[in-house]
Amino acid sequence: MAVRLYNSLTRQREEFSPLNPPRVGMYVCGPTVYGHSHLGHAKSYVSFDAIVRWLRTPAPLGPGFDVNYVQNITDVGHLTDDADEGEDKVVAEARRRGLHPMAVVETFMRSYLDDMDALNNTRPDIMPRATAHIPEQIALTQRLIESGHAYEVNGSVYFSVGSFPDYGKLSGRKFEEMEAGARVAVNTEKRNPADFALWKRAEEGHIMRWPSPWGEGFPGWHIECSAMSQKYLGLTFDIHGGGLENQFPHHECEIAQSEAAHGVPFVRYWLHNNMCTLEGQKMGKSLGNSISLKDVFYGREGGVRDKAGNVLLDRTFEPVVVRHFILTSHYRQTLDFSSDALRAAESGSYKLRDAARELHRAAHVAQPPSAVSADPSRDRSDPSRDRKGAVSQPTDPSGDRGGATSTSADRAQLRQAMNPLPHGRGSDRPHAPLPSSLATSDAVRSALAEIEQRFAEAMNEDFNTAAAIATLFDLAKRSGEWLRDGLAAPGGAGSGASAGDRDADPKFATRAADLRAADGLMQHLAGDVLGFYWPAALGGADNGKQDDLIRLLIDLRAEARKNKDFALGDQIRQRLSALGVELRDGPQGTTW
Ligand SMILES: [Zn+2]
Repeated sequence: MAVRLYNSLTRQREEFSPLNPPRVGMYVCGPTVYGHSHLGHAKSYVSFDAIVRWLRTPAPLGPGFDVNYVQNITDVGHLTDDADEGEDKVVAEARRRGLHPMAVVETFMRSYLDDMDALNNTRPDIMPRATAHIPEQIALTQRLIESGHAYEVNGSVYFSVGSFPDYGKLSGRKFEEMEAGARVAVNTEKRNPADFALWKRAEEGHIMRWPSPWGEGFPGWHIECSAMSQKYLGLTFDIHGGGLENQFPHHECEIAQSEAAHGVPFVRYWLHNNMCTLEGQKMGKSLGNSISLKDVFYGREGGVRDKAGNVLLDRTFEPVVVRHFILTSHYRQTLDFSSDALRAAESGSYKLRDAARELHRAAHVAQPPSAVSADPSRDRSDPSRDRKGAVSQPTDPSGDRGGATSTSADRAQLRQAMNPLPHGRGSDRPHAPLPSSLATSDAVRSALAEIEQRFAEAMNEDFNTAAAIATLFDLAKRSGEWLRDGLAAPGGAGSGASAGDRDADPKFATRAADLRAADGLMQHLAGDVLGFYWPAALGGADNGKQDDLIRLLIDLRAEARKNKDFALGDQIRQRLSALGVELRDGPQGTTW
């Protein structure tokens, strides 16, 4: 199954065929770091994260590409006005706060990464900063002057739009229209009002300045993306992503600079994600209705309100809910935020989480005790466990202990702590194999295969995450049915039968395999591919251990009741209750 995507450059859906498969070079315009990230950033970067995750998903489910994901940090040159006028956004914020511009950059770059980590976005493989690539930007500018595509005036350098006939091919704008539209600009240095700055002369007192062949100055905003994308991905690369609002002029200028300088096509597939609105209104700092991600996750003192005091958001929402909400719409559609819409997404997200949690517990419990530590497929079928910590192993099979107390689990945990990438290219995190090899029953196997198939079709058709999520709800529903069937069967997980009884049940292994296959698929699709991270459901060795302990106590209580020791049984229930674990006895067994 091939991936088909909507290419903004050709304005049609095309089969994606990378230049050097299985390698894929992908660049996404990163944030300008002069303030906290807002909902628009979440929409953009969650959408592209889902795309990267899908492209990386191994065969046979996914295309299994080796994606090199580059996303820049704009820390210089992005002016308050698109027509090369106004102040550098970072410098303006630095003045307001009385800080050095690099302190502003550092603050908001870290804030951005915190927010993206909270949303469980995979960190890009390379995050180049514009200020760290001044020589590359100067070299590209020089090349454009030498080839007659740019000219210098009073220490500033401008790209001559008229020298590049393809200018406008991405946005579909005609040169004459752009010329007329730009005429209001007052920059008298430009030969043509539509020309744009590659390098700007630094005026007296401008802090962000670098020496160049044209005197001290700083780069224009557009040139950084051309210089950095081509440095890390080559002169022609596969995918360039960004927000629709940057299609013109930013991306149009990137194409002009890169293709004029090198004479080869710059990008093969352009992907643009659409914008967010807030209750139907455009969102923005200047409009006074901007909501930062920190507002959404943690709230704001006095409530999240606009300038007039109207409530914009009536309570906080977890990052995973925001992620769920974003992925329930297509990346090329606008997304309208509101408290009600987020509440609806929350209910969907929690429903899925609860189903995944129930399935995970049952699959975990359904494993015969002897298999818990010995089954090597266990931690692979449960891939998101190593998001927070490794599944513990009783012994170190490799034998190369680093110290008296260091086990492979310790080292794995340490590695995770040092390398928090959930499954980036630079991570040694194994990809989850599909659970088809397990000894599942025919009915369950074909049901899972059908869900898998529909999920893959949805993602292959221009990354239709909304349809993919719908298949997860189907999986949740079917799993619920299997669980009820399984729990009702004699000796089934949760029936109150002791571990010994379960071991002796010949049907147990098949049922366990079914549950584990369903659980493995849920974790792979929801956790690995869509990036839903529900701490209690999917991650953390501690949670698995806690479930084991509760299950052990349920077994002991059942044993006590069998021996007519009801006092002990009640005591177990009461003490668990005091710890916040409520046991529920039903016709289908004991759950909590
Ligand atoms: Zn860019």
